Amino acid sequence: MRFSSILRAMAPVVKQYDYLVIGGGSGGLASARRAAEFGVRAAVIEKGRWGGTCVNVGCVPKKIMFNTAMHAEFIHDHKDYGFDVEMKSFNWGQIKEKRDAYIRRLNGIYESNLNKSVVDQIIGHAQFTEDGNVEVNGQKYSAPHILVATGGRPVMAEIPGKEHAITSDGFFELEDLPKKVVVVGAGYIAVELAGIFNALGADTSICIRYDQVLRTFDEMLSSKVTEEIEKAGLKICRKTQVTKATKEADGTLTLDLNTGSKITDVNCLLWAIGRVPNSDKIGLDKVGVKMDSRGNVVVDEYQNTSRPGVYALGDVCGRALLTPVAIAAGRRLAHRLFDNKKDLKLDYNNIPTVVFSHPPIGTIGMTQAEAEKEYGADKIKVYRSTFTPMYYAMTETKVMCSMKLICLLPDEKVIGLHMLGQGCDEMLQGFSVAIKMGATKAQFDETVAIHPTSSEELVTMR
Ligand code: FAD
Ligand code: NDP
Repeated sequence: MRFSSILRAMAPVVKQYDYLVIGGGSGGLASARRAAEFGVRAAVIEKGRWGGTCVNVGCVPKKIMFNTAMHAEFIHDHKDYGFDVEMKSFNWGQIKEKRDAYIRRLNGIYESNLNKSVVDQIIGHAQFTEDGNVEVNGQKYSAPHILVATGGRPVMAEIPGKEHAITSDGFFELEDLPKKVVVVGAGYIAVELAGIFNALGADTSICIRYDQVLRTFDEMLSSKVTEEIEKAGLKICRKTQVTKATKEADGTLTLDLNTGSKITDVNCLLWAIGRVPNSDKIGLDKVGVKMDSRGNVVVDEYQNTSRPGVYALGDVCGRALLTPVAIAAGRRLAHRLFDNKKDLKLDYNNIPTVVFSHPPIGTIGMTQAEAEKEYGADKIKVYRSTFTPMYYAMTETKVMCSMKLICLLPDEKVIGLHMLGQGCDEMLQGFSVAIKMGATKAQFDETVAIHPTSSEELVTMR
């Protein structure tokens, strides 16, 4: 055997695919499976559990806990509806066990779906190498089309004692409902998880840097949700930051605040101050893929990175961190690359989104402030409605519903719809279709209302 042949025999063979996807989460799985439908040889590389953030530590287990919290809220109303029921105890461990089992089942379903779609599964941490290939456990893989769909992870603040705190990932590992909880942050996750803790009976505080939660949402939503969660018993510590966490001999935490005061006897400190992309430690720099100052992978509207043949989508790009966004972008990319739909791309305008707060928020399109900035206040007409949903006519506790339509003059095209109240999470999807189609206020009004519902308000506003 000649020396060069020996070297060739020793070098690991580069395995070749048509489409190589890094990350078996929402975006990666959707894109690889859609590509496989077009006869493409595809593989997904995953270092953790199939399904990514959404399935394992995001939407799915969160929604189960939201539903659990909704039960607690309904139980409080039972007596008002004539039922002799009181909440004697709540078994967090029981719901956690069932939730974990459900997630394990989903992990299995995702895996078997890959098998059914004939997508190869590669388990391990993927990294680009200088030659443009991707290496996993010493084995090199290559493809003319490589997708980076590696998602993100929660940020933890750099304070003394940060090791005593958890993030949303840790929330899903809690074995019991903590007695006293402090949540830091003012975004989706802080509001959702603090709401769950509070509804289930934990003494819950939320430390926010300003006066309201969800400040990037429409002003009405931000102020009303802050008001409602406070009414529901959540303690809001405004203009407050936790500067230090100290573990006491009894296992509880004492938190030092920037205000000079302390919170004592804390059983759980949870940070929910945003997420960072998983764009480090995957060798993107070795292949010249550009990232912005926060590490988000820079892509054009077709999900192309700065390196030809390498694409990115989902949370790793830092835009609209939502499961359906990653899935939609992934499927469209597969059609563009392998189904000859050369111009297919995701339209990032008018993405509907829900915050599973108590009560939930549904929102799509421009906020009033954005619309006024873009078109001028004189070109915008705003319709508002605040009312008590009929459900609460029978109950002592009242949770208001607030709705707002932002319309662009002269034809009053609806360019923003924002609502907060019972059922708003389920109301939004259908209205999103109308808004995506460019519906006007007159067309909303032409639609006959469904009575008695809260959603009928959206077609009867004056
Ligand atoms: P991910 O789903 O995060 O998948 C990325 C995958 O890549 C992971 O499995 C990871 O292990 C893998 N990976 C990373 N690096 C490597 C590597 N080097 N090699 C191999 N594999 C790698 N969105 C909603 O729409 N609705 C909700 O209700 C909702 N709730 C949420 C609640 C919480 C607590 C959180 C944290 C998020 C929530 N989201 C929700 C957001 C949603 O989960 C994400 O937007 C979505 O999962 C992003 O999908 P992705 O494919 O970009 O990344
Ligand atoms: P968000 O970006 O939603 O919110 C984080 C907020 O925390 C900021 O807006 C900021 O609010 C506050 N914050 C930032 N830094 C600090 C700090 N140092 N100290 C205190 N507060 C701080 O991030 P999340 O982590 O809540 O969620 C990440 C993303 O995941 C979301 O944007 C969303 O896209 C997705 N998600 C979607 C869900 C859904 O669809 N229902 C549910 C959960 C997550 P301020 O400036 O007011 O202080």
